[in-house]
Amino acid sequence: MTEVNLFETVKRHVCACALDLKLSSNIEAVLKMPMQELHVSIPIRMDDGAVRVFQGYRIQYNDARGPTKGGIRFHPDVTVEEVRALAALMTWKCALYRLPLGGAKGGVICNPKELSAGELERLSRSFVQKIAHFIGPDRDISAPDVGTNAQTMSWMMDEYSKVMGKTSFGVITGKPLSIGGSEGREDATARGGWYVIGEAAKDLGIPLKGATVAIQGFGKVGENAAVLAHPLSESRVIAVSDSGGGVLNRDGLDIQKLSEHKKKTGSIKNSGLGADITNKQLLGLDVDILIPAALENAISMDNADTVKARLIAEFGNGPITAEADNHLNAKGIPIIPDLLCNAGGVIVSYFEMVQNLNMDHWGRDVVHSRLNMHMTETYHTVFEMATSNNISLRRAAYSHAMEHMVEAMKIRGWI
Ligand code: NAD
Repeated sequence: MTEVNLFETVKRHVCACALDLKLSSNIEAVLKMPMQELHVSIPIRMDDGAVRVFQGYRIQYNDARGPTKGGIRFHPDVTVEEVRALAALMTWKCALYRLPLGGAKGGVICNPKELSAGELERLSRSFVQKIAHFIGPDRDISAPDVGTNAQTMSWMMDEYSKVMGKTSFGVITGKPLSIGGSEGREDATARGGWYVIGEAAKDLGIPLKGATVAIQGFGKVGENAAVLAHPLSESRVIAVSDSGGGVLNRDGLDIQKLSEHKKKTGSIKNSGLGADITNKQLLGLDVDILIPAALENAISMDNADTVKARLIAEFGNGPITAEADNHLNAKGIPIIPDLLCNAGGVIVSYFEMVQNLNMDHWGRDVVHSRLNMHMTETYHTVFEMATSNNISLRRAAYSHAMEHMVEAMKIRGWI
């Protein structure tokens, strides 16, 4: 397996766009470095009485366009470079969609599956105690990512409130409805992705009714992508996978039964709903739409040649390495890039912030229609830019985001 560093990939995309936009080397240098980083050690008393020290990071990449915003990842493979890359991606994503926010990301090196509920709660609370003076509702706002969820977010919001001496819903989004969460946040990333696929399919001439879909990852994003596939597009999910392996049924998978199986057993393995396949096989299936919704670098030069999908929609962050991206572009496979495709989560998180600030509550239909409007409008801007300049959607999306970033940095007198 070729080791690829996501931060290097992100910086390569920035360099390419800096050339396109004729940005000065000073501006490029600012865009390629995070603004500030906090590295913390978190000692936790485990259930057996032993003390384990976990490593955590919070990285604020660039706040030219507003307070920084980004999820917190709990995963054994978290590295500081990965968190930097994800913080940069959040910055471009918020800029692309013109949200009044910068980008950030957090991560703790741990395996949440191996921690008891008590250990997970102590780790979530202690991490927030360590970073409390670095974050805040008008400074840096967190959200769930891989390995974290509405429960972890609730503990973190509660701990931050204790440190600050007042209830502070606005420091975290992705909270449950009872403590200031927004309707429609749970499936927002997947829903937003399907809204964009709907528009792209029209432009690319791919009929969605009956289209075959393969999804890598069956977590918060991948599972919702599977659940929403038919209601939003009349397409048919024939394969999904998680970290334990995949399942294929060419007649279409029964997603409800698969979700029930996962709820009971913790994974999609041995569901009996189709044939077992590996993750590698899933990525190489001859399908209309391939949705990588797991971890980064899933498609690299090790397997890019095997990809046969007609369209790839990056619901996950950074699933394709820079070399594989070039290779797939040369093969003529269109890719809807992460910053364009999976922004639904941060857009509804932004809606959650707006509702919290106004002590308001929007209905689900309002959230869906506003999300649809944001995703559709921005998709068309990027598509037109890509078509008129004969560049990929990724290059157009990056360039558009960079333009918004540079405009803000210039007017603030940074450059
Ligand atoms: P999650 O922890 O809920 O789910 C991750 C899923 O990926 C799990 O099903 C896991 O088993 C699977 N997985 C892990 N390694 C795998 C492998 N090698 N092969 C196949 N599957 C594997 O995380 P999530 O929130 O669903 O995030 C998924 C991706 O989407 C990440 O890249 C994340 O940064 C991105 N993302 C998430 C959100 C959000 O709102 N949660 C928003 C934007 C982007």
